[in-house]
Amino acid sequence: MNNNQKNGQSRRGYTSNFTLVCLLLIAVLTVINIKIFSGIIAKNPEVDIVYNRAEDPAVKEEAKKQAALQKELETSFIELSVSVDDTKAGNLVLVNNSNAYSFEASPKIVPKSPLVPFSGRQSDNYTVSYPAREMMTQEAIDAFNALADDFYAQTGHRDLFMLDSNRSYEDQERVYESKGSDIATLPGHSEHHTGLAFDMQIYQNGAVLAFDGEGDYSWIHQNCHKYGYILRYPHDKTEVTEISYEPWHFRYVGKEHAYYMYTNNLCLEEYIGLLKKYTLDSERLIFTTDEGVQYMIYSQPVGADTDKIYLPKNHSYNISGDNDGNVIVSAILSGN
Ligand SMILES: [Zn+2]
Repeated sequence: MNNNQKNGQSRRGYTSNFTLVCLLLIAVLTVINIKIFSGIIAKNPEVDIVYNRAEDPAVKEEAKKQAALQKELETSFIELSVSVDDTKAGNLVLVNNSNAYSFEASPKIVPKSPLVPFSGRQSDNYTVSYPAREMMTQEAIDAFNALADDFYAQTGHRDLFMLDSNRSYEDQERVYESKGSDIATLPGHSEHHTGLAFDMQIYQNGAVLAFDGEGDYSWIHQNCHKYGYILRYPHDKTEVTEISYEPWHFRYVGKEHAYYMYTNNLCLEEYIGLLKKYTLDSERLIFTTDEGVQYMIYSQPVGADTDKIYLPKNHSYNISGDNDGNVIVSAILSGN
């Protein structure tokens, strides 16, 4: 054995020792790494939440709520398909500077009531400017008949004079051209297109007088909501309606909506805005009128993604578009 062979053997010995040390080191580092990373995983809150999500009380509660809602929808409501045109018809349509009236809308579910003339339909206790030409929906005419009859019974006045109950697009063009943008709304943006609004005057001894809602006539401002009408442009809402005070302009919306607007001092813009918060899966608007009728009102957005609405199975209801992307349902819960 020469020196070279000896050196060769001892180098091999060193090499195998070195390999052993390296392997040991790798094993130790692997164990340490596992400890470090598992520590990080345990401390990472996101991983914790993923792991514990099903146990989270808030998540559990939400899942329970969704399941209850789903069950309620299946047992107490029917699902119907609608179109965007369903948002554009009905007693609650909002027509103003921002929301044009849709003459051509053809809704699937919401009734688009035809306009009918006052001739042969009006009570004896008021006058209509041109009964054969002035038109509203039958429901709005019936409501006004009841109002005028009660007004006569209460005050002895039968001198109410109704005009401008419906204007065509061309009528409004003429009004706009003659009165200007300060007074008249743009054609297509007038409430008078809807057949749900009219202007009031007083007809006395062959003369037509302005209706200011003062004196005996204040009865109409204070009571029209009981018949489903609202004073559409109140003096304290001019910034919202963008229309100056019009004591003579009335709008039919239906009893339940008129009641809520009157008792909560809301104009139509404010009420439509408020209803957007009340949906089937959040909170519904529930209230009881002075006459003891309890209503539940909710709004359902209709658009490109959602074309289904839910209607109550076991209660009678009214349904209307808001002309602002939603269908509003008002169900009578009790007391009718
Ligand atoms: Zn008017």
